Amino acid sequence: MKIIVDFDRCEANGVCVGIAPDMFELDDDDMLTVAEGDVATDRLADAEEAVAQCPKAALRLA
Ligand code: SF4
Repeated sequence: MKIIVDFDRCEANGVCVGIAPDMFELDDDDMLTVAEGDVATDRLADAEEAVAQCPKAALRLA
C-alpha cells in the first residue's frame, strides 16, 4: 500500500505530519512530501490514522 496525496485538496495544515512524521513532511514552502514506496506493515496503522484524520480528505492508501 502506498500513500496517495491529492494536492488539489491538501491545505498543508500538518495534521498528517503530526501523526506520522516519518512518513509526511512539510517543506519551507508548505509543500507536503510523502515517503516513497510501500508503507511498512508496522506503520500501516499510523498511515490509516493519517488518512482518517486529514481534514481535507486529501489522503488515501492504494
Ligand atoms: S493532513 Fe491532509 S490537508 Fe493536512 S497536510 Fe496532511 S494531507 Fe494535507
